[in-house]
Amino acid sequence: MKKTFLLLMLSFSVFAQNKTENIFIITTDGFRWQEMFGGVDSVLLKDDKFVRNRDRIKNNFVGKTPEESRQKLMPFMWNTVAKEGQLYGNRWAGNKVNVLNPYWFSYPGYNEILSGYADDSINSNDKKYNKNMTVLEFLNNQPKLKGKVAAYTTWDVFPYIINDKSSGIPVNSGKDLAQGNLTEKEEMLNEILKNYSSLASDRHDFITYYLAKEYIKKNKPKVFFLSFDETDEFAHEAKYDEYLFAANTADKFIGDLWSYCQSTPEYKEKTTFLILTDHGRGDKIKSQWTSHGQKVADCYQIWMAAIGPDTPALGEVKIEGQLFQNQVAKTAAKLLGYDFENGKEVGKEINKILK
Ligand SMILES: [Zn+2]
Repeated sequence: MKKTFLLLMLSFSVFAQNKTENIFIITTDGFRWQEMFGGVDSVLLKDDKFVRNRDRIKNNFVGKTPEESRQKLMPFMWNTVAKEGQLYGNRWAGNKVNVLNPYWFSYPGYNEILSGYADDSINSNDKKYNKNMTVLEFLNNQPKLKGKVAAYTTWDVFPYIINDKSSGIPVNSGKDLAQGNLTEKEEMLNEILKNYSSLASDRHDFITYYLAKEYIKKNKPKVFFLSFDETDEFAHEAKYDEYLFAANTADKFIGDLWSYCQSTPEYKEKTTFLILTDHGRGDKIKSQWTSHGQKVADCYQIWMAAIGPDTPALGEVKIEGQLFQNQVAKTAAKLLGYDFENGKEVGKEINKILK
């Protein structure tokens, strides 16, 4: 009896298929775990150097408790992911997510996310083609997924990180216009992109998002990388108010995309979102929140979230634990039923997201 049961369990686990058929990896650059789990930082809010319109921040994002504040700031994360998915990285509760690369800035971080390998030789944000095969390229090489992989990003270094030339993956970033048979919305977005000038070094996240959404509606990609950048941009400019609005906007976009997926047969109940950031920012010395990198303490500290049909609803994970940025690539592939390898020391899959 026991043997039969064991056999049954074994065969069940061997043949148990994941429900996930589509993977979206989504990032918002340099958004701190401190705001994700604690909402608006009251010390920074008081500082005139960083905040020009305190009332607007108070009215929009401050609550009676840190829990209320974070829910106002990141409504999708706290109303949906915290109920139906998983949220990691609340260090106040002993739950840690770390960057493994020693640099704590963007290219090394995105390489670690996408190739699963913390590569010490990547030590700048220069536009150099990545030598590491990303999980996007690996998945695009699978016959079932060929041509079903794409990336839309605000930052214009991503064509190099994803190596669009050798991988064949379309990467729309920076000043890139939408291509091909354009929808009316794409024509409009292209027009805005051509004519709108601003301080933004690449483009605004809203352009990235709505271009991405049109692409997704039209082409129904099965593997998609979406990357926002304004959180980092405004932080470097020392604009704490704008940083908060950028984070809130990114959260709303991710929520909108999730709603779209749940209303679309190609995606409904078979799509997993993996959401995270590329690096942390300063906190110990309060004024260093604007910055990150090796010289700023603790910028290896990040957060991570997951939501999808195979991911148990653990909500905010408040038990001691340690995850690493290099585990995302293998987890993404595993959810689709593939074992990601690229000849490098790739981080292990995150079992809690898979079971
Ligand atoms: Zn960054």
